[in-house]
Amino acid sequence: MKSILSGLRSIGGGLAEVLAPDYCMLCGGRLSKAEHRICALCRIKLPATDFHRIPGNAMQQRFAGYGTIENAGAVFYYVRSTPLATAIHDFKYNKFPSLAVEFGREMARRLLTTGFFYGIDLLMPVPIHFTKRMRRGYNQSERICRGLTEMSGIPTADNLYARRPHKTQTGRTPEGRRANTRGVFSVRRPYELLDRHVLIVDDVCTTGATLLACAETLHSAVPGIRCSVLTLAATTTT
Ligand SMILES: [Zn+2]
Repeated sequence: MKSILSGLRSIGGGLAEVLAPDYCMLCGGRLSKAEHRICALCRIKLPATDFHRIPGNAMQQRFAGYGTIENAGAVFYYVRSTPLATAIHDFKYNKFPSLAVEFGREMARRLLTTGFFYGIDLLMPVPIHFTKRMRRGYNQSERICRGLTEMSGIPTADNLYARRPHKTQTGRTPEGRRANTRGVFSVRRPYELLDRHVLIVDDVCTTGATLLACAETLHSAVPGIRCSVLTLAATTTT
């Protein structure tokens, strides 16, 4: 199992999808015809937050008091060295964009019946600067949105973009993280977003500084906009 998984990783996503599409990206087990990228057992074992059942949950608390984010959700807990953390690393750095799309579908499956998407007009992936996009080949948050759009029917918009690259947020203080994201994002064609409620989507939420910067940028560029945020996973501490 492990050797199949490391083999998949070493050949990279694009080739792996052609050469070995039938193995679970989390456990390396063989997939049945009905399964795609992640097996049913691994899906069950994913560390669900169930935040949608908890009013005032930890994710909502992270953004309370700023006045720019209405609702906030994260579908799973992010814990280092777990299969989910490895999978996120895979779709970020090992060129497995289809895994990000599949996680988008999984997020939608878990949230569609909860009312979380009620009133949301557009999905807005957290942008990455084009130099990073060139290097990586894709924006993983945009791929997550692709899976969400497929299942929910809510379109993905490209109005938010990164004007300049920002350095990694790892190891920074909360204030440092906010300073690091200041002036990074901008909005194209803001008139398209007037009075819309957008859901800003990212892979992992740690302090929330990036999501907050996106929401603040949208609020200052677009009159009447409403913002909520959703991530695939969130760390348990900031
Ligand atoms: Zn599996």
